[in-house]
Amino acid sequence: MNNQMEAILTQLKETSGQPVCAYLYDLDHLRAHVSGVVSQLPERCEMYYAMKANSERPILEELAPLVRGFEVASAGEVKKARQVDGQIPIIFGGPGKTDTELVEAIRAGVKLIHVESMHELMRLEHLAGQLNAMVSILLRINLAGPFPDAATLHMAGRPTQFGINEREVPEIMKLLARCKHVRLEGFHFHSISNHLHESNHISLLRIYVQKAKQWADEYGLEITRLNVGGGIGVNYQTLEEQFDWSLFVSLLAEFVEREVPENWKLMFECGRFLTASCGYYVTEVLDLKENHGERYAVVRGGTHHFRLPSSWQHNHPFEIVPVEQWAYPFARKEWEAVDVTVVGQLCTPKDVMARKVPVSRIRIGDWIAFQYTGAYSWSISHHDFLSHPHPAHVWVRPSVNEWSVTGKVGEAWTS
Ligand SMILES: *Cc1c(COP(=O)(O)O)cnc(C)c1O
Repeated sequence: MNNQMEAILTQLKETSGQPVCAYLYDLDHLRAHVSGVVSQLPERCEMYYAMKANSERPILEELAPLVRGFEVASAGEVKKARQVDGQIPIIFGGPGKTDTELVEAIRAGVKLIHVESMHELMRLEHLAGQLNAMVSILLRINLAGPFPDAATLHMAGRPTQFGINEREVPEIMKLLARCKHVRLEGFHFHSISNHLHESNHISLLRIYVQKAKQWADEYGLEITRLNVGGGIGVNYQTLEEQFDWSLFVSLLAEFVEREVPENWKLMFECGRFLTASCGYYVTEVLDLKENHGERYAVVRGGTHHFRLPSSWQHNHPFEIVPVEQWAYPFARKEWEAVDVTVVGQLCTPKDVMARKVPVSRIRIGDWIAFQYTGAYSWSISHHDFLSHPHPAHVWVRPSVNEWSVTGKVGEAWTS
């Protein structure tokens, strides 16, 4: 967090008369980061944004001109994409698409549908037939693995609800051969998430390419593209050591040149890696207390705004922003050189965002700024549990000294 962001939050606090509680997004950082990522991609590689990571409108507006398109997983996300850009390519995946969603996707002109089961393929052929449409698809395959990874979430290589069991490929090829309204463009693999190892990620792509080549040969397929998923990670434990994108793309360039058939494109659909770093969740320390040997900082808000740390059972990284103002006529409580557990306002012992983290000083009234909260943070949280107010969402452009707010600090909860 920089001085400008602090000044904005101070102003919000003064106008609302409420403790600070806000998501802050640095749109300049987002633009610089994502343009850097996209511009380094080698030929025949494309970047889509997996919008479930953060589908707030200003984020989508910032990203639309930078990425090749949006990856969506519901009709609601198709609508969000179309509201931001009537033309942007949309690719549509997800394990439980309804008939209505498939029809809406066809009508919205999505570029590719990622088919995740045999039944879904039959339904899509049926629905596309009724609309007299031709639909381009990728088959999402759940490979048996094992994978050369060091990731924290697995969508394949073990039992999960995603994609088509690799053992069913022969059967699905027979079905495809009879389809008249569905055209197979290639395969989709999104097997892991939060992967932090550059060369292992290339090894993973190698497995995908080899599998696809094998099926293309075996079934005489004319494939044009492989979706190699997202899953590039963020190192929440050591912020200074992030996935080295420059190293990765240099390995990728060599890999594409040597191992990917000339007329194939590789599509990436990243979420976390694109938006995590632009966001902060900043909240004010309401109380400090010690219970049975553990020290707690109780902050405004909590995991109903920011579920990521409790979902992943990790200590989310934060910095303490010292605030000098003190409104009361009595002494301010403070601790020095202690291990502190940061909790929110919810009445559940699971409302923990970081546990026993050493801090040099913390006072009631200081702010805690959680970092890397631009992805899977607000978007995955259960906002109305306990009916506390929502945080403000502050969109900052430091370079031109501009900012705007959506949502209000301290606004009472309304249905
Ligand atoms: C969530 C998801 C992504 C994005 O994953 P990240 O780990 O955020 O990059 C990509 N593809 C599919 C199919 C997904 O479900």
